[in-house]
Amino acid sequence: RGFLLDGKALSETIQAEIAEQVNEMKKKGRKVPHLAAVLVGSDGASETYVSHKVKACERVGFASTLRRFPDTTTEQELLEAIDELNNDPQIDGFIVQLPLPRHIRVDKVLERISPAKDVDGFHPMNTGRMVANLPAYKPATPDGIVEMINRFNIPTRGRHVVVIGRSLIVGTPISLLLSREGYPGDATVTLCHRYTEGLANYTRTADILIVAVGIPGFVTADMIKEGATVIDVGITRVADESKKSGFSLKGDVDFEGVKPKAAFITPVPGGVGPMTIASLLKNTLLAAKGAVYGK
Ligand code: NAD
Repeated sequence: RGFLLDGKALSETIQAEIAEQVNEMKKKGRKVPHLAAVLVGSDGASETYVSHKVKACERVGFASTLRRFPDTTTEQELLEAIDELNNDPQIDGFIVQLPLPRHIRVDKVLERISPAKDVDGFHPMNTGRMVANLPAYKPATPDGIVEMINRFNIPTRGRHVVVIGRSLIVGTPISLLLSREGYPGDATVTLCHRYTEGLANYTRTADILIVAVGIPGFVTADMIKEGATVIDVGITRVADESKKSGFSLKGDVDFEGVKPKAAFITPVPGGVGPMTIASLLKNTLLAAKGAVYGK
């Protein structure tokens, strides 16, 4: 019971596989994949996420560029910066780290990104293509979860998957990916959210429970079935004086309480987070190869 789904170790394995492919590209005299990240403002969590992404690029041999903009950047200025990246032949893919300052409309920004360079998979073109089962960049967090289920051989066919949280970047796409045909998929999926009545009645029947709510310790042991697989997407910074940073990261699952009851469980940190990074790198490699939209 309580077998740890070690996303950190698995992410390292996947990154080693990607590094191998980058070496092959270098040997053939090809340009290495190049990921750019756009960071607006100085949100602490966003800084951390972006620096993890840049470091991961270095580890696998990708080139990376970080473009920083102040909080005061206008929407128009950001859109122009996106146009530059869209038109820069050196850049294979790029991401705009969310959240953005409130005066910038996130939809406008995401729609401005060329779908062929949208390695976060947030552009409606990629969402639509994913829904239609066409080649697409899949959003990194759900893709990372699917990859984790796949590599740990967790059965999904005919199983009941319960997802809590319906965001467009996690809950909604993971529901889609696990309900569609093939493996990992063929599951019966229930998508729960803040208006779900009697939430625990659903979660207690879940063979696989995926939690993306953003409330630390939200899922407790009484809410899960014996032997369930529990995947915790939540990351919340909680004040912690024993840490040098002054905070620690908490998941949406009461890990200590749930672990003895679960067959498999992801830790936070070290579970879904590193898998997200691996999937972003995978998408960037696809972009460099022109595997989704051609070259
Ligand atoms: P969000 O913050 O946009 O939305 C939260 C969702 O939870 C909503 O769909 C809402 O309906 C649901 N919800 C809120 N209260 C609820 C309740 N009481 N009962 C049932 N459902 C409820 O979601 P998000 O952007 O997917 O983020 C969720 C968490 O996942 C956050 O902690 C975020 O930091 C984390 N996250 C982690 C990664 C990663 O790489 N590990 C990536 C993205 C998000």
